[in-house]
Amino acid sequence: MDCLFCKIINGDIPSNKVYEDEKILAFYDIAPQTPTHVIIIPKQHITCADEVDETNCLVVGHIFSKIPLIAKELGLEDGYRIINNCKEDGGQTVMHLHFHLLGGKKLGEKIV
Ligand code: AMP
Ligand code: ZN
Repeated sequence: MDCLFCKIINGDIPSNKVYEDEKILAFYDIAPQTPTHVIIIPKQHITCADEVDETNCLVVGHIFSKIPLIAKELGLEDGYRIINNCKEDGGQTVMHLHFHLLGGKKLGEKIV
């Protein structure tokens, strides 16, 4: 499949990993928008949030169950922001479900 993040999962494209288990992978964003910017993805290819349903939603819960651990390892004790961009109007550029974990500074209260 011609999917950038599937290639990262397969090791065809290198990444700077911060967390990995059998279901998910977290790695540093190549173009960080905050001092700490990590991408968290399911290893199972799900195109976007609009494709989450009863058959594949458990991995989304698994991602959120590991976010506190990942955030702690990254030193984000004072908080962070989680963003998901969905499809064209949401600004999604890589069509593999992912969550941006952003932190390392005090972010503004608004995102638009
Ligand atoms: P989105 O715009 O929500 O689809 O986010 C895609 C993110 O993937 C962007 O923040 C990119 O900087 C990031 N990205 C693209 N290619 C790579 C890569 N090879 N390694 C790490 N992050 C990447
Ligand atoms: Zn993929």
